[in-house]
Amino acid sequence: MKHHLSVLGSTGSIGTQTLDVAEKLHLQVHALTAHSNIALLEQQIRRFKPELAVVFDEEKASQLRLAVRDTATKVLPGMDGLIEAATLDSADLVLNAVVGMVGLQPTIAAAQAKKDIALANKETLVAGGDLVTRAVRSNGVRLLPVDSEHSAIFQCLQGNPPNKALKKLILTASGGPFFGKTTDELKNVTVEQALHHPNWSMGAKITIDSATMMNKGLEIIEAARLFDVSGEDIDVVVHRESIIHSLIEYNDHSVMAQLGVPDMRIPIQYAITYPERYPSPVAELSLAQIGRLTFFEPDYDTFQCLRVCKQALAMGGVATAIANGANEEANMLFRKGRLRFLEIGELVAGAVASIPNQTPKTVEDVLTADQMARQYVTDRV
Ligand code: NAD
Ligand code: MG
Repeated sequence: MKHHLSVLGSTGSIGTQTLDVAEKLHLQVHALTAHSNIALLEQQIRRFKPELAVVFDEEKASQLRLAVRDTATKVLPGMDGLIEAATLDSADLVLNAVVGMVGLQPTIAAAQAKKDIALANKETLVAGGDLVTRAVRSNGVRLLPVDSEHSAIFQCLQGNPPNKALKKLILTASGGPFFGKTTDELKNVTVEQALHHPNWSMGAKITIDSATMMNKGLEIIEAARLFDVSGEDIDVVVHRESIIHSLIEYNDHSVMAQLGVPDMRIPIQYAITYPERYPSPVAELSLAQIGRLTFFEPDYDTFQCLRVCKQALAMGGVATAIANGANEEANMLFRKGRLRFLEIGELVAGAVASIPNQTPKTVEDVLTADQMARQYVTDRV
């Protein structure tokens, strides 16, 4: 188990659950970061006494520096601060739980600084692709999945390393709040309706991504890159109960699954304690109490983000960065009431279809593609 953590995005849904896990396991937390919620970050600083706290927003960083001047914690702003948190000498595991592709550079910096990485921030892997996996491989560090589906697959693969006998990965999807709805029924759905996820309590961006099923599209790309599997060998099945977190199938058609109550503290803890397991405060699974589990085909026509992500993965190059960037922008504009729900998928599809694709050689190429995709969306609002 890694005992020295740096937690990027510590004030978010995954971040706060990570700190609960860290506290129960008596781990040391050396760095904490937030975008701008300095009230919560200050509480976390007083609880964990980290060496470094980072606030992305510069003005808020100055305010926090004043507020915690009685502590030994250093406060830094911006991307430089995030990179410093990701590369701190004292940390051996960086848990990246920021939302959005802003997590890309810190993830690569962590790998270059020889830190193992527990990754919740799927946008990093979707946008950065090979640049991330290559940095991980060439520096000989671990990239441990925190996303529940990917943790499930990773757990199923223990003792069964991916090899020729592995036929496919099967990602489960809750289907979100709009499962079974037609395009017509989705025309006028509100932000409040889209934010109402049936099984998970998560940050706003991923909750909207679950409603559009962009989340599952991002997860197909994430799985392809984490496990080096082609998109054609990744299936999605809608499983409303979120009890089976994902499955793998071998060429003899034996299927293995990982189950548990829907609680992110299980995959978070496994990423931290891997390869060991420790007791957890998460409730036991009672299958008899649940009674039945159901499964359905996803609807690739109504939820076009899912289809577009598969296409972008097959296209390669910066296509997945374009899909991700367009979605980050459209998701945010929908939450601000400036786009309709179905326009998110239309804009992601439009951006992937019309922005020229190329093979990224550097992180700058990815950042440029991301900017072009965001611009494509803002130009059409
Ligand atoms: P959240 O919105 O609750 O928290 C996001 C964190 O990132 C916060 O600490 C915030 O301060 C920080 N942040 C936001 N914008 C930033 C910026 N520009 N610069 C620096 N920091 C910034 O989100 P979340 O639900 O915890 O999700 C975090 C990541 O984990 C996402 O990539 C999400 O897809 C993934 N994930 C979340 C869940 C879940 O259950 N919440 C499950 C699987 C994967
Ligand atoms: Mg997931």
